[in-house]
Amino acid sequence: MESAESPVKAGPADRIRIVLVGTQHPGNLGSAARAMRTMGLTRMVLVAPEKAPDRDTLAMAAGAEALVLDAPVHATLAEAVADCSLVLGCTARSRRIALEELAPREGAARLIDAAKAGGEVALVFGRERTGLTNEELQLCHAAVHIPSDPEFSSLNLAAAVQVLAYAVRETLLEGTRIALGDEDGDPRDQPTTHAELEGFFAQLDETLEAIDFHKGRAPESALRKLRRIFLRADLSTREVRLLRGVLADAQRMARLASGK
Ligand code: SAH
Repeated sequence: MESAESPVKAGPADRIRIVLVGTQHPGNLGSAARAMRTMGLTRMVLVAPEKAPDRDTLAMAAGAEALVLDAPVHATLAEAVADCSLVLGCTARSRRIALEELAPREGAARLIDAAKAGGEVALVFGRERTGLTNEELQLCHAAVHIPSDPEFSSLNLAAAVQVLAYAVRETLLEGTRIALGDEDGDPRDQPTTHAELEGFFAQLDETLEAIDFHKGRAPESALRKLRRIFLRADLSTREVRLLRGVLADAQRMARLASGK
């Protein structure tokens, strides 16, 4: 049995442990393992499961059973998260205890930030019937709540693990895209700056004049609408360069057409 103080591994995802407290159905251990594995999370930790993994576990894990079989087992939540710099507890309903409540993506972002800073971090899930006790939630730095229908707020344990594991993956993938640039993987392709965008808008203005887009109308309204479109597009530096290339050609053709 591996201890919770396992050596710190390479990427931030490897420093995220999913802690399942007092799980009652062995099938859910398997489903949770599958949910984790599909999202690139591999570290499951168990706290006092009611039953040992069984055939249902294997059936539901669909090939991801190693996560359950290798999972360290602890007697208490405190023990399972002793070495963690951040612990988030997932709850199906808001409790009256004074704990900050985060949405899944906020929780994911906090976990990844702390993991990138080199810490071990934990995402904790409660029992199928009763969730986490207030004492267990007090051990957490913040709560994570999936904004489900308040009249039917409780997800199946493995479904809740899936939602959070996906939020973690989505956040990690976004971070990778920003770091690597666009799909061509050009690291120079940074989000555009305000000054670059203003340069583009100025050239757009000149081009619209040159191709006689306004036809005597005041240019402001069209320019405002076009600005809104391009601001919404969240352009990168490289995309602005491409658009400015298009404008430059349009300007050149307009010059040719007007014989100037
Ligand atoms: N009746 C229990 C439900 C437990 S469901 C309760 O009210 O707490 C099992 C576990 O799945 C929960 O302890 C929690 O960790 C997670 N979970 C279920 N629904 C969730 C939701 N809407 N938001 C966050 N976690 C949820």
